[in-house]
Amino acid sequence: MKEAGRTKSGKGNMIESKDLVHEYSRRDEDGNITGIIRAIDGVDIQVKPGDFIAVLGANGSGKSTFAKHLNGLLFPTEGTLYIDGMDTSDSTNALFVRQTAGMVFQNPDNQIIANIVEEDVGFGPENMGVPTQEILKRVEESLKEVGMFEYRRHSPNRLSGGQKQRVAIAGIMAMRPKCIVLDEATAMLDPVGRKNVLGTVLRLNKKEKITIILITHYMEEVVQADYIYVMNKGKVALEGTPGEVFREEGKLEECRLTAPQITQLVRKLRKANIPIREDIFSEEELIRSLLLFKKNGR
Ligand code: ADP
Ligand code: MG
Repeated sequence: MKEAGRTKSGKGNMIESKDLVHEYSRRDEDGNITGIIRAIDGVDIQVKPGDFIAVLGANGSGKSTFAKHLNGLLFPTEGTLYIDGMDTSDSTNALFVRQTAGMVFQNPDNQIIANIVEEDVGFGPENMGVPTQEILKRVEESLKEVGMFEYRRHSPNRLSGGQKQRVAIAGIMAMRPKCIVLDEATAMLDPVGRKNVLGTVLRLNKKEKITIILITHYMEEVVQADYIYVMNKGKVALEGTPGEVFREEGKLEECRLTAPQITQLVRKLRKANIPIREDIFSEEELIRSLLLFKKNGR
């Protein structure tokens, strides 16, 4: 394999951005620049291999712009971004950057190209020149991994949104990326589809050690993340573990976000002197804690 470009750094991080800036130019009908939009404004992010990272932010906060940088679809206006040690602004790295991070987008219908599920999943590796035997093996493995193997001969058109997204994820898995970026990939799904896609992603992270960047504006989706970056107006406004981030009610509000319902409920219970832990993020855990409290008769 050809060596990637010379500009290697990033200190062993899968993703490392330093003072990353992205500006779009607004143009009139004649193509003259009429304004500059600073969509990313000095972002520092570090993601270690195998991390499950969430990027939270309201509409227009710069999430998709950031996602496009991770996949080499956009390049820094200022600052640097290293993906698996490769400087994305060095054009000799372009192909390697693309292959390192696979992207899942919001609309499941725009991501499926073939008429049969297994052909769709094989499309990426085929484009990469992977030998046929190996493609067949990867397609089978990937479809099993996302729980869609039994649909391999189906037409993608007939699948639900959540199933389509899982096929899209299988297609990315078949290209063996080190990292998967999901940009609001569950936004158009029903609750069941959303849960299945999130479960799939979590499993790929834990089992296959794939680095996950989950971009969303749903707080409920990020409780399982190792670390959260909250974006507001192109900047990282808040970062930390889910517990640390959800505690910052005021800052979240400034970012036009609200803590998950469960966190709000836990807070109210604690205020009412019910001694449960603050970092409870699931219904099951809350019920368990309340039952324990009742049993102990305190
Ligand atoms: P998010 O994904 O969080 O909703 P985006 O990254 O899509 O945010 O957008 C961030 C800002 O950049 C917004 O103000 C948006 O209007 C602007 N923007 C996004 N894409 C373009 C573009 N292609 N040209 C000009 N401005 C853009
Ligand atoms: Mg977006």
